[in-house]
Amino acid sequence: MKITRNGAVPSKQGPESYFTGQVRMDMEFNTESPARVGGVTVTFAPGARTAWHTHPLGQTLIVTAGLGWARIEGEPKQEIRPGDIVWFPPGVRHWHGAADSTAMTHIAIAESIDGRRVDWAEHVSDEDYLGA
Ligand code: MN
Repeated sequence: MKITRNGAVPSKQGPESYFTGQVRMDMEFNTESPARVGGVTVTFAPGARTAWHTHPLGQTLIVTAGLGWARIEGEPKQEIRPGDIVWFPPGVRHWHGAADSTAMTHIAIAESIDGRRVDWAEHVSDEDYLGA
C-alpha cells in the first residue's frame, strides 16, 4: 500500500501553453504499470479553462465545487456543477473550465497509453468560451 499524505504534493500552476487564466493543480496521482490511471484536482478561477484537447483513452471529471462550463466540439456548451460526473470519450475534442464569473474545481481522471493521457491543441478563444 502506498499513501501519499495530504500536503506532500505541492500545488502547481497550470502551464500557460495548455490553459487560459489562473489554474491550480493539486493532489496529482499516478499508478504503476500495468495500471494506467492517474488524476489531478484542478481549480479554475472565473474565466479560466483548458485549451482544446483530446484524451487517447477518454477522461472522467468529477465536479467538486463551483460552476463550470464544458464543451465537445460541434455540440452545445454545458454547465457542470458539484456532484456531476462527466465522461469525454477517447479522441473527442473538448475543453472544460470555470464559468465566466464563478470558479470551478474538478477531479480529472484518465488512463494513459504510450506514456500520455492528453493531446493538447490550440487555446479556446473568448468567442468559443463565451458562446453557446
Ligand atoms: Mn479533458
